[in-house]
Amino acid sequence: MTNFELYNPVNYVFGKGQIAKLNELVPTHTKILLAYGGGSIFKNGIYDQVKTALSGFDIVEFGGIEPNPRYETLMKAVEIIRAEKIGFILAVGGGSVIDGAKFISAAVTYEGDAIEILRKRILFKDTSAVIPFGTVLTLPATGSEMNSGAVVSIEATQEKLTLGGSALFPKFSIVDPTCIESLPKRQLQNGVVDAFTHVMEQYLTYQHDALLQDRLAESILQTLIEIGPKVVEEPTNYKLASNFVWCATMALNGLIQKGVPSDWATHMIGHELTALYEIDHARTLAIIGPNLYKVMFETKKDKLAQYGQRVWNLNGSSTDEIAEKAIEKTIDFLHTMGMKTKLSENAQDIEKTADSIVQRFQERGWLALGEKQNITLDKVREIVEMSY
Ligand code: NAP
Ligand code: FE
Repeated sequence: MTNFELYNPVNYVFGKGQIAKLNELVPTHTKILLAYGGGSIFKNGIYDQVKTALSGFDIVEFGGIEPNPRYETLMKAVEIIRAEKIGFILAVGGGSVIDGAKFISAAVTYEGDAIEILRKRILFKDTSAVIPFGTVLTLPATGSEMNSGAVVSIEATQEKLTLGGSALFPKFSIVDPTCIESLPKRQLQNGVVDAFTHVMEQYLTYQHDALLQDRLAESILQTLIEIGPKVVEEPTNYKLASNFVWCATMALNGLIQKGVPSDWATHMIGHELTALYEIDHARTLAIIGPNLYKVMFETKKDKLAQYGQRVWNLNGSSTDEIAEKAIEKTIDFLHTMGMKTKLSENAQDIEKTADSIVQRFQERGWLALGEKQNITLDKVREIVEMSY
């Protein structure tokens, strides 16, 4: 196992009816920015629950944070916070609203042009230099409710870039599994696949000696495989909903990542597909993931075979055979979860996709990705072209 520090200060408040606890969690001495998305919270009653819990608090509302939150939109919230002297942000929504709150939190006191936060990948470590925030999660998928990373899109240049740092953990996150009852089927499918891929990014690397980390990752994968197809059909089933929500958080709250290598190239390439074609985040991962496993087969095959044996109960006469079957099982699962795994099934005019992704990576100096830094630009091209 490699050395690690495990720091996660999020007060994670889980269960039915927990939104009512907001008045104990939110600070009383300051104005609060209530940040939300396109309005789903008005239809499913979550807005009413939040307002009831926070009656008497001084709240300024900021709606309209879009899926794949945009820098341009978030800067409007930054202006409001500065003008109104707001001291706390409450993000009510999915990964997009929560990621948006992280950017806003970092940008308010940032000296200089806030776009640098994204372009220079500034790390925020000083909690006194950011605006504290809490979350009410409405869509399990990203783990953003219990991590310190975020992804923000720049509309003007069609880019999707990350930010983060230990100062950007939520102070608290309220996670009521019944929030998934109002999710469209497409978003439930996306949530399962995003969480599944988060685990794969941190697990499907090479053989190492962190035994517990592998078992933890495998158990999250197995649970998602067991409940994923069911929760899409029956989101009102609390047993399914609560396990799904906890899997999504556990997949990316930092725990399974400690002491082990991680890949993240599926996400890095996937972000470009969202930036170019506005394909849902999880759907980009379903397009890229399996092709990445195929192109990087030689370096990943031992771990693929372990995954095949332990997660899918596969057997075979050779490592190669089990590893190949494991990729096929993964593709079948993604199809069961409603994913279309070819780029041409998700977007049009895709012929130049590999060219533009390779060019963007080259400009940013992203010349070698993956756990062994051996996903070079020619491999990126091969992975993207294989996905056409
Ligand atoms: P999302 O973009 O936050 O939301 C997708 C859609 O679902 C929106 O239209 C939203 O509507 C709707 N929705 C949310 N909760 C709902 C509910 N309870 N009932 C009905 N509709 C609901 O989806 P997401 O998958 O959670 O977030 C995706 C973003 O997170 C991407 O930008 C991705 O790159 C990023 N991401 C972040 C991390 C991280 O660690 N920070 C990891 C992976 C991905 P409203 O707009 O009306 O709310
Ligand atoms: Fe993701």
